[in-house]
Amino acid sequence: MDEVISVLVSRKLVQGEKVEKLENELSQYMSVKECIAVTNGTSSLHLILIALGIGYGDEVIIPAFSYIATANVVELVGAKPIFVDINIESFNIEKNQIEAKITSKTKAVMVVHEFGLSADVQEIKKLCDGFGLFMIEDAACALGAKEEGVHVGTIGVAGSFSFHPRKAITSGEGGCIVTNDSDLASRLRALRNHGIDPNDKTKNEFICAGFNCRMTDFQAVLLSSQLKRLNESLKRKNQIARIYQSHITNPSIKLPVASQNKIHAWQTFHILLNQSKKQKNIIEMFSAKGIGVNYGAQCIPTQKFFLEKYRHDVIKEFPNAMRAYQCGLAIPIYEMLTDEQVSFLVDEINGI
Ligand SMILES: *Cc1c(COP(=O)(O)O)cnc(C)c1O
Repeated sequence: MDEVISVLVSRKLVQGEKVEKLENELSQYMSVKECIAVTNGTSSLHLILIALGIGYGDEVIIPAFSYIATANVVELVGAKPIFVDINIESFNIEKNQIEAKITSKTKAVMVVHEFGLSADVQEIKKLCDGFGLFMIEDAACALGAKEEGVHVGTIGVAGSFSFHPRKAITSGEGGCIVTNDSDLASRLRALRNHGIDPNDKTKNEFICAGFNCRMTDFQAVLLSSQLKRLNESLKRKNQIARIYQSHITNPSIKLPVASQNKIHAWQTFHILLNQSKKQKNIIEMFSAKGIGVNYGAQCIPTQKFFLEKYRHDVIKEFPNAMRAYQCGLAIPIYEMLTDEQVSFLVDEINGI
């Protein structure tokens, strides 16, 4: 908060040295060449698609189960989202079903590291390379997550992060893009700032039709200070996840899995209820007790706009995405939860 006030006093509010400092800290944290801070985790995805030249007539493969923004940005550039079902263990895109959806129009696979767990990106990257496709990473939920020791978001052509309050670190609204491709980074910097050439600071040359997706410096300092505590926070969430995994013994609940070669960021601890339990009733029942539980993400092809436009036979085409949408429950996981609170939650969940 002191840092925020010092930014306000300095009167340099937008896209200044605090934003640049944050970008350097984030690229160092993830061992990636470039970081571009933007307004939120939807604009970051949107800008990536535009910077890669994806638009009308193109197809982008995405998981059927994610936050809606993943699909909206594909629509907004005029491309067609091609949905692939998820794996019910990981809640991530079913990698074995991707290849069958590739056509001559496919330009990219946009993977989502759902709930903070890497989506087998090393393997999907190989598949994309074989077909000459971009792999884009929607890592909105996955700051700090790794696969085989490498930070997610840095494996594909570009990775997108969100700093919404629901994510690991927050500036209210905020997001960033990371990439090892400096030309792409340069195009993204132009798109973020009205199309101004980022490589020529002396002239205000407008080299493309850009947006205003700049971050403010008072947001940047909020993120810089939280980034210092991120590893502590991830450690605590990992502890809580382990307690849940060993103490939730309710046979009508399926627990999320963590893999050997991955570091889970545990942005969300997402359990699956037995079909006989009513998700809505449980959310209401817990809410009455002051416990915040909610469904985890949407089965996107069933949402009004996408259903009316594409008319997918969702039950048949995306059974796992439907199951995760209808039976999934995100239970509390955040660093400030005490052990007593966690054991109270364990008892409540075992009582479902
Ligand atoms: C949160 C989220 C977004 C959107 O991020 P905003 O910063 O809210 O725009 C996109 N994709 C996924 C998977 C998310 O969880």
